[in-house]
This record gives sequence, C-alpha cells and structure tokens, in this order.
Amino acid sequence: MIVVAIDGPSGVGKSTVGKALAAKLGVPYLDTGAMYRAVGLLARRHGVPLPIPDPGRVGELADGCEVRVTGSGPDTRTILDGEDVSEEIRQPEISLYASAVAAIPRVRRRLAARQREMALASGGVLEGRDIGTKVVPEATAKFFLTARPEVRARRRFEELARKGTPQDLGTVEAEMAARDEADSTRADSPLAFDETYAVVDTSDLGAEEIAEKLRGLVLAREAG
Ligand code: C5P
Repeated sequence: MIVVAIDGPSGVGKSTVGKALAAKLGVPYLDTGAMYRAVGLLARRHGVPLPIPDPGRVGELADGCEVRVTGSGPDTRTILDGEDVSEEIRQPEISLYASAVAAIPRVRRRLAARQREMALASGGVLEGRDIGTKVVPEATAKFFLTARPEVRARRRFEELARKGTPQDLGTVEAEMAARDEADSTRADSPLAFDETYAVVDTSDLGAEEIAEKLRGLVLAREAG
C-alpha cells in the first residue's frame, strides 16, 4: 500500500501537486488542512474570538463534530456535520482560525487520529504540516515542499482572486508570515521536516512536472 506524505507551508503548491500525484498513483488524496479549516469555521460560528481565550471549549467543539473529506481530485468536498463547507473554509479569515485551532493539542489528537485511520485503510497522498512527522511516520515517501517567499505570496494571491475572495498582495504576505510563524513555533507538531524527507523547491517548476518527479521517487522507494 502506498502512503505519501507532503508537508510544507502554504503557497508551495501542496494541493495542486498532491492531487496530480494521487491521480498518477491511483490512490486517494487527502487535504488535511481542510479538516483544520472546518474546525476553525465551527469555532468562528460559535462566536469564539481570536486569539482563542478558551482552548478547552474549542477542544470540546472538535470532539463533538464530525469532519469528513470525500471525493477525489477536483471533486474533493469537506463535510462538517453533514453540511458541505468546501467553499466557506477557503475564506481568508478561516485560514487564521485554522492555524489557531491547529495549535490546540486536543484538536490535533482528534484530527490526526482520523487522518491516520484513513491513510492506513486505503493508502493515499496526504498533504499538511505534520503528515510525515506525526500522522504517518512510516509513509512510503515523504516530501517537504518549499518555494521562495515572493512566489508563495503570488500563488496565494492568485488563488484567492480565482476563488472570488481577493486580497491585496501586502495583506496576503502579512497573513502568510503570521501563519508561518504560528505553525512553525507551536509546541504541538510544529511545521518541520527531518532527514527522512526529500526537500523539493517548487519555485521554478510546474505542478505537473513536480508530480511526475515525485511519482518516480515514490515508485523507486516502494520497489526498494
Ligand atoms: O493547508 P492549509 O493552509 O489549508 O491549512 C490551514 C491551517 O491548518 C495551517 O495554517 C495549519 O495551521 C493547519 N494544519 C496543521 N496540520 C496539518 C494541516 C494543516 O496544523 N496537517
């Protein structure tokens, strides 16, 4: 069974590359960030402010909800307690809520356990921040994607414009820097990689080209 971990900060192309790679390998694709976004949305709907004053309450909300990610490729949907929230979780404000709830150990425990279950049931390409370090350390292959800061900001800027929630480039850069800082310095499962990862700079390559390169590395790893 093939399990691929793709970790890295936002704007490095994890989703585009992950979806293309999953299609090439014929395994499911799981965007784990969408699950943190769904819990972030739930917290906001319950009127929880930022910074989160009562992490215990958000932990309870996370334990009491059901988050599912269904479908594959472009048809991936995120379902929160039976409601399709795929579009709503992409709003810029939810990025900050996702990062805030993701620092709460009880939230991480619940979502990571669910992600691990899904990976071990059917294999897959899992994309996130802690997939190869925490969720499935025994993955067939692990990749840490990076890109130059200006390339990342530009990609995110274009993604937001495409999705109908445009923000100016300066705001995008500031939000990205705040999330990087929060995700890299939190005590529980910070964004990180180790010697078991292959680090891939995506600044100057197309998604298809990267996915093809990763496919080769995964198959070599699986064979050897
Ligand atoms: O990947 P995406 O930008 O959608 O993730 C939103 C947030 O969810 C990240 O900023 C991060 O704080 C959190 N996250 C995480 N662990 C993962 C995936 C996402 O902490 N495996």
